[in-house]
Amino acid sequence: MPSFLVVLDVDSTLIENEVIELLAEQAGSLVDVERITTAAMNGELDFEESLRARVATLAGLPLTVFDVVADRIEVTRGVPELIAGVHEAGGCIGVVSGGFHELVDPLAERLGLDYWSANRLGVDGGRLTGQLEGPIIDAEAKATTLRDWAARCGVPLRQTVAIGDGANDLTMMAITGLSIGFDAKAPVRDEADIVMDVRDLSQVLPMLGLRA
Ligand SMILES: [Mg+2]
Repeated sequence: MPSFLVVLDVDSTLIENEVIELLAEQAGSLVDVERITTAAMNGELDFEESLRARVATLAGLPLTVFDVVADRIEVTRGVPELIAGVHEAGGCIGVVSGGFHELVDPLAERLGLDYWSANRLGVDGGRLTGQLEGPIIDAEAKATTLRDWAARCGVPLRQTVAIGDGANDLTMMAITGLSIGFDAKAPVRDEADIVMDVRDLSQVLPMLGLRA
């Protein structure tokens, strides 16, 4: 039976990139996506509205775009060490993403994560439709997912750890035993139990009393 569960955000936490921006670069819509992100940060759009608006700019991209973007994803320093350290200590580790299954699935499998969840992009005739399919992973869904994984592992919430950088991570961070803001934006800096400014995720291990 695992003794603890660690859950990380993906964009700008597990990886150095924001995947929606990498996709938008390929679609030629990066400026639009940045404008929508700014509007969301100013509170003019909620997360779901802003995600749908950003994904709409990707309509028509061929599925080969995932190969191009996957090559550009850079895993944050210390991730393999963090995963190995958690497993050695008998813990579970997963990622929950407001990004997309098409890119998170191969990454999670390659890294040896125990759990992962992300949004799914609509596809028709080998091209992105610009729509999302299925339930949206927003802040609330991130917290629900963490709760489900904790139940599946048989780990009480006080023995869970959430690591993230954005406002979208605050709801899950509020229910864990320990929350770590990773090179975090303002609202997360204020709410997290610990703020880490060095972009090296192996440094989480000593915070959990584990060897780095
Ligand atoms: Mg993030």
